[in-house]
Amino acid sequence: MTIKHNWTREEILEIYNKPFMELLYDAATVHRIHHDPNTVQVSTLLSIKTGGCPEDCGYCPQAARYHTNIEGNDLMSVNQVKAQALRAKASGSSRVCMGAAWRNVKDGQEFDQVLEMVRTINKLEMEVCCTLGMITENQAQRLAEAGLYAYNHNLDSSEEYYKEVISTRGYQDRLDTIGNVRKTNVTVCSGGIIGMGEKIEDRAGMLVALSTLDPQPESVPINALVPVEGTPLEEQQPVSIWEMVRMVATTRIVMPETQVRLSAGRTQMSREGQAMCFFAGANSIFAGDKLLTTPNPDVNEDMEMFRELGLNPQKAFEKKAQPESVEAQDSKFQNLGEKPKWSRPGHTIQKNLEAQEKGRSRT
Ligand code: SF4
Repeated sequence: MTIKHNWTREEILEIYNKPFMELLYDAATVHRIHHDPNTVQVSTLLSIKTGGCPEDCGYCPQAARYHTNIEGNDLMSVNQVKAQALRAKASGSSRVCMGAAWRNVKDGQEFDQVLEMVRTINKLEMEVCCTLGMITENQAQRLAEAGLYAYNHNLDSSEEYYKEVISTRGYQDRLDTIGNVRKTNVTVCSGGIIGMGEKIEDRAGMLVALSTLDPQPESVPINALVPVEGTPLEEQQPVSIWEMVRMVATTRIVMPETQVRLSAGRTQMSREGQAMCFFAGANSIFAGDKLLTTPNPDVNEDMEMFRELGLNPQKAFEKKAQPESVEAQDSKFQNLGEKPKWSRPGHTIQKNLEAQEKGRSRT
């Protein structure tokens, strides 16, 4: 089956707005052609460096300027990460995604440490994903050489709405980072968040941006905003399960081969709601009681849900072979010490400024 790469916003909106039952049926049909409907990947998200981020993403409690109740921590050690990865593997995860609250990766000791974490987890025969902010082509190559399976860099929303949420870097920077990852054999993970106050047109706009990439991302996380006190989006109303199912189903139809990840916001969803998402084409969840910093269902509850629904956790490297890990001393890439000039649009986002002010007056 050929993959369509020229989706328009109108075509995607037409799918999103179909009568619910028809949308669900169409998405489930596409899902069954391309995936085993009874297999769902369980991934574990690990915050390897928490808080103190210089960016101003309006949804994020890790942005230093908003003064939320997040306890920051420096970069974890390789041994700490290994212990957590082993625990995740024992509880059924086949993938570890390591997140660091950085604007972009800087060459040096900390990046070398992350490369060692990648080698270590890959040797545990688990898929390794990283989300470290913007990266250069050389950094992507070094991650690939260490054995990275996927790199996550979300587009978050449509290009137009993105400007209402983030002012410290541009949409094109995001696309450039995805482009740098694409030059390697590392798979691309990129998705977004619904419930940030965007219109349905913006959700469709984000799906246009993702689905017109060639190849399409191997993985697309769909998050429902978890509003956190102190952030500019603290007062957003949660999205309904119907919107979530529509978004998952539409993503499945426009990106048939992609792994669609039901990500943040699952604590607000019933089991029945999550089952509908799986039926509509979601085939991955994040396990563990925390998703970076926001709450997530307990892993035992998830396993009970899997039993109830007859779902099987996906094995590692089912979609793509395990990459090899080259040891640091054998690397053919140099630490270039690059200082890339990522953009800083710096436009004014009133609610971000207000949240920053509020944070200041609280300290
Ligand atoms: S989403 Fe990432 S880049 Fe944005 S503030 Fe949070 S940690 Fe920083």
